[in-house]
Amino acid sequence: MNAQAVDTATCPRCHQPVNSQAVTCPHCGNQLKAYGHPGIPLHRATGKEYLCDTCTYHADDTCNFPQRPFAKECILYQNIEESKQQLQQQRNANSFGATVRSWMRRNQALVLLLVLFFVCLMIALSTT
Ligand SMILES: [Zn+2]
Repeated sequence: MNAQAVDTATCPRCHQPVNSQAVTCPHCGNQLKAYGHPGIPLHRATGKEYLCDTCTYHADDTCNFPQRPFAKECILYQNIEESKQQLQQQRNANSFGATVRSWMRRNQALVLLLVLFFVCLMIALSTT
């Protein structure tokens, strides 16, 4: 079997598939990574809006980028909507799933008793 584990990304300018480790787009020469380093993704404003308008770090005032609030390129950009959704998902998963799981763990005996009780009830109901 030929294992071709090449991660592909899409160039934001020409929308051609490019290697996710590529520093520049081989199709249009668009700069994809900052400082020529494949580990640093470079975020770039696509329209007329500045990145800062939708960036988490601008919103919570932790950004110290000199081009703020008019940055059109940034390596630390974090989309506020995306991080909100992530946070929401985490919170949902945490709150509901974790609550149920920890409650079950704490009340294992009670859960077992309840299950047994319901099984007995079903048997009693089905026989009468
Ligand atoms: Zn391109």
